[in-house]
Amino acid sequence: GQAKVQAAQEQKQKLNEGVTPRSQDFSKWYLDVIAWAELADYGPVRGTMVIRPYGYAIWEFIQSWLDAKFKETGHSNMYFPQLIPYSFIEKEASHVEGFSPELALVTIGGGKELEEKLVVRPTSETIVNHMFAQWVQSHRDLPLLVNQWANVTRWEMRTRPFIRTLEFLWQEGHTAHATKQEAEEEALQMIEVYRTFAVDQAAIPVVVGRKSKLETFAGAVHTYTIEAMMGDRKALQAGTSHNLGQNFARAFETKFTDENGASQYVWQTSWGMSTRMIGGIIMTHGDDRGLILPPKVAPIQVVIVPIWKSSEEKESVLGGALAVEKSLKAASIRVKLDASEQKTPGWKFNHWEMKGVPLRVEIGPRDITSGSVVTVRRDFSGKASKEFGVSLAGLDVHIRKRLEEIQDNLLARALTFQDENIVDVESYLELKAAVSEGKWGRGHWAGSDLDEVTVKEETGATIRCFPFNQPEASKPCFMTGKSANEVAIFAKSY
Ligand code: AMP
Repeated sequence: GQAKVQAAQEQKQKLNEGVTPRSQDFSKWYLDVIAWAELADYGPVRGTMVIRPYGYAIWEFIQSWLDAKFKETGHSNMYFPQLIPYSFIEKEASHVEGFSPELALVTIGGGKELEEKLVVRPTSETIVNHMFAQWVQSHRDLPLLVNQWANVTRWEMRTRPFIRTLEFLWQEGHTAHATKQEAEEEALQMIEVYRTFAVDQAAIPVVVGRKSKLETFAGAVHTYTIEAMMGDRKALQAGTSHNLGQNFARAFETKFTDENGASQYVWQTSWGMSTRMIGGIIMTHGDDRGLILPPKVAPIQVVIVPIWKSSEEKESVLGGALAVEKSLKAASIRVKLDASEQKTPGWKFNHWEMKGVPLRVEIGPRDITSGSVVTVRRDFSGKASKEFGVSLAGLDVHIRKRLEEIQDNLLARALTFQDENIVDVESYLELKAAVSEGKWGRGHWAGSDLDEVTVKEETGATIRCFPFNQPEASKPCFMTGKSANEVAIFAKSY
């Protein structure tokens, strides 16, 4: 008994191609999934990565959805150069302070020492303002609403594929407005776009809120964030939107003449979501068997695995499988038929499960006779995942319905997990206990920056945000006892 079970487990592990079970070692599991599912590989320079086609395809879904939303909300795409004169970065005091430790500099060009060193952009507020200052004259030039899809470089010390890399892909929105209020509305509108993407597309529940002063973007007045709880309960900042006030406008003289003929600084925002989101998808949904992709962002939504023994069986089964593939393609379902003969059906089941394909269709000789197939959901395991005798007639409708259910179930499951792991705290002791159990602590907070640093030093947790969703009553701060209007969420984070 025991030995057999162990042998079966080992066999299973081998079939999963070397992915460490998530329950055994979350960090190792994450790296294994990225490698075995062929999402990305390491670049030769520490902290860099190569995004492989399967991972890049997920990025393309993120891109296309966001891009459509940006355009719907009035933004146009454009492109700024990657190299920025060093003097630009120095113009906004807190910006240079925040980004200096992470800058990559170019000092030699064409074999000659450059007169002015150049920064490989870590973000583009400075160069954007340099240009905006030339393009904006009157209030009629506002609002200016642009976005760019680009790579940026930040010399990060602790790196992890997708989550924190030296170079990453993102979009950065940059806007300029005539009024403070318009800029605030824009910053809020864009964090809502990110929230919608996370929840509706990536099936990742998030807490939306405002960053503390210490965690606010270097150069911003307010930073809004979406914070997601990963499978190990660490928080992931999955997207940010900044109200920049007039900080960059003052530094770059980005001014306009208002309706009364007076010269004024513009009010600005910037906002970004990056390839980190892919890491968020992996770490929210995956399980011991590997990746689980929400159908809406899955490059392959359905894999068809034909099963045959004899050559007569092969002919009819393959014919049936091809017909199913064709009908699902026609219904715009992203489908892959794995008819390769080198691998067994069992190997294929495990392989595509590991790659996170939401639904599997199995077709064998008996199914051909009965005009049906077997479907297997990736989000359940064992008997509950399987449906036998699913009729070929209306299969596309059936599958579309299942994909929707999987999408919904992944979100519901993650939301339950998140809710179960946020604890309300009323004292520092309770916060410490929550954090040491790996949970998020939510409590009234009116502490100073120094208090915030103390919490970080003593517990490892930082303020993830002051959630938009706040209780009505004010209460004593759990740290200082002073009356606090707001709760903050503390957690360990990536
Ligand atoms: P920021 O402009 O610093 O607010 O960055 C915008 C978003 O990019 C952040 O909210 C993160 O989700 C993401 N991000 C920041 N740094 C990195 C990095 N080193 N690698 C991947 N994503 C990042």
